[in-house]
Amino acid sequence: MNTNQLSDRLAMVACFVPRDTVLADIGSDHAYLPCYLMNKDKIERAIAGEVVKGPFESARRNVQLNGFSDRISVRLANGLQAIEPTDAVETVTIAGMGGTLITSILQDGKERLDGVKRIVAQPNIHAIAIRQWAVQNGFLIADEEILREDGKIYEVVVLERGIADYSDADLLVGPILRKKNSDIFQAKWEREIREWQRVIKALDAAEKTEEILKKKAEMEQKIELVRKVLTS
Ligand code: SAM
Repeated sequence: MNTNQLSDRLAMVACFVPRDTVLADIGSDHAYLPCYLMNKDKIERAIAGEVVKGPFESARRNVQLNGFSDRISVRLANGLQAIEPTDAVETVTIAGMGGTLITSILQDGKERLDGVKRIVAQPNIHAIAIRQWAVQNGFLIADEEILREDGKIYEVVVLERGIADYSDADLLVGPILRKKNSDIFQAKWEREIREWQRVIKALDAAEKTEEILKKKAEMEQKIELVRKVLTS
């Protein structure tokens, strides 16, 4: 991966960034995504936010090497604190982290989202947390994609301002991914079911505390929910 060639996962995130937007890429690491989008002349300006010094310096170096220092501002900051009101950011990307971390970044800095029209989130796991955060915070799920790269399956969840109601199954598997019902979607959830079944078997062998019985019941419920989705 470099500033001209993204992984398929990050290229999918790039696809959902609107043309001519002002972008904040949070957890930018090497700043590959904003540099790539700038190289394609797709975005107007960008902020590359990073909380760790090493990746921050690597982002700054890449931005300089590509000659974008006047259009990509690299900032050492925690989450959405990288964004200032005067930046007039319209699109936020947060990719390559767990869904719970992405959700806490959104929650902790939500006052910085004024003026943001689109959030493109790419959770490595637990996308449900982002969908739940969206409905509780005035966003709806505008689009979703799922892809496989190097044996791993990734989801991309695109949020836009709006109010929507989703079922528990929709929040778990994604309302749009469910409609698209791709082979990768089917494979992901068949894999999850097998993993839950493995855990249930392990729980069966353990002492039956209230907590273990609760966990087992939750997993059985999820298996039933997902099975209904896969066969509907
Ligand atoms: N976004 C890139 C991608 O998708 O390829 C990089 C993903 S990398 C696995 C996650 C990056 O997010 C790391 O560089 C990490 O330091 C950064 N990060 C984690 N928590 C963060 C936070 N609260 N604020 C800003 N950056 C964060």
